[in-house]
Amino acid sequence: MDTAVIAEAPTRFLVAGMGDALATWFEARSCGATQSENACGGLGTLTGLNLARLCYDTLLEYGVAALVSCKANAVTPALEHVIEANILLSGLGFESGGIAAAHSIHNGLTALPGTHNYYHGEKVALGVLASLFMSGKSKALIDEVYSFCESVGLPTTLAGLGLTGVSPDELKKVAARACIEGESIHHEGGDITPQMVSHALLAADGEGRRRKGIAG
Ligand SMILES: [Zn+2]
Repeated sequence: MDTAVIAEAPTRFLVAGMGDALATWFEARSCGATQSENACGGLGTLTGLNLARLCYDTLLEYGVAALVSCKANAVTPALEHVIEANILLSGLGFESGGIAAAHSIHNGLTALPGTHNYYHGEKVALGVLASLFMSGKSKALIDEVYSFCESVGLPTTLAGLGLTGVSPDELKKVAARACIEGESIHHEGGDITPQMVSHALLAADGEGRRRKGIAG
């Protein structure tokens, strides 16, 4: 891999890659907990789960330094670690660990034209944030993931994905699309309904706005 090419590329590609990689650990863990099939039609392995965890830890540890390096067109160990996380660890983690809510919520978000100028990984990142609320994760974890997203410039609100003033009907469309039969969101524990998804998105957006100090 020629990391110099990535160091020269627009930083938004790197950041979007981090958004996609951010989902790896959460989705692999959900699949592990519910014994759901991975991309290869098998069950997750300890190897996959631990690679997914390493992916998450690497993003948190080196994400900001990688972003700074990429902006400066500088190849540094931090940038190389994050490229490894984005491509190798994320790829292996999802192939052997499986995908879940974040990618289905991404698929739901693509139902709205407003999101079409945003990259896959940017939509997946908001999917991760919504999934934290959907599955009732701890405040500590929610804070950790939002802080990471904010530190590298991943979207944490609906407006951040081109969905300023999204209507309840549009949100319903997103949620319905995310929950169609066969979607990986059903790898999450329990019966996942469209209403759970739209409420999780509203909560994630509310938290993102609260942290930014935007009223409403
Ligand atoms: Zn992805």
